[in-house]
Amino acid sequence: MILALPKGRILKALTPVLEATGLLSQPSPIDEKTRALRFPSTESQLDIVRVRSFDVATFVAFGGADIGICGSDVLTEFDYPEIYAPLDLEIGQCRISVARHPRAGLRDEAPSSKIRIATKYPVTARAHFASRGINAEIVHLHGAMELAPSLKMAHAIVDLVDTGTTLKANGLEETDVIAHVSSRLIVNRIAMKTRPQAVSDLIDRFRKGLRSQKK
Ligand code: AMP
Repeated sequence: MILALPKGRILKALTPVLEATGLLSQPSPIDEKTRALRFPSTESQLDIVRVRSFDVATFVAFGGADIGICGSDVLTEFDYPEIYAPLDLEIGQCRISVARHPRAGLRDEAPSSKIRIATKYPVTARAHFASRGINAEIVHLHGAMELAPSLKMAHAIVDLVDTGTTLKANGLEETDVIAHVSSRLIVNRIAMKTRPQAVSDLIDRFRKGLRSQKK
């Protein structure tokens, strides 16, 4: 079995729960200095891989990993039917929001131009505006979308907001919260069917690890 963990911010928040599961071995996936991508665990039947947080859902959906941890923002964006998300880990909590510049506009704005949104969440952003009857034009970026409104390449952004510091530092105002976000334990549905005992044992370890953190 393979467990896929996300690199970066979520992995840091997840470390106490991972330690409580007793699955970590050496070399450890929480050691950000190592360049390794695949790690052993304390269970001979389980290896751990460390991938970009946006890719965890894809590794699990395509069967590269049986189980993983990923933000609900990523699950909503990809909406893979192959994934089942049985456990909210209540970490990595933030929200996905629309934010604008007070003087929003485009460099060469035509009077009829559509609202243009810079985001790394094209599906979520399009669906949000469509639900309000707005056909938004999406500029798909992978980072630094906060720059887009002040450079007049988009009217607004859709991105994750935690404390709001990044928005403020870039002169942006949060105007709508699209959804609240937290990290979920996710499972490949075929793995659930073919190895129900191993999968439910792992879910159980995370549930217990989480409970021990809350005490
Ligand atoms: P903040 O300045 O605290 O509002 O954080 C916003 C920045 O951190 C943005 O660049 C977000 O993409 C990123 N961010 C906030 N929360 C999370 C999270 N839970 N997971 C990943 N990135 C996040």
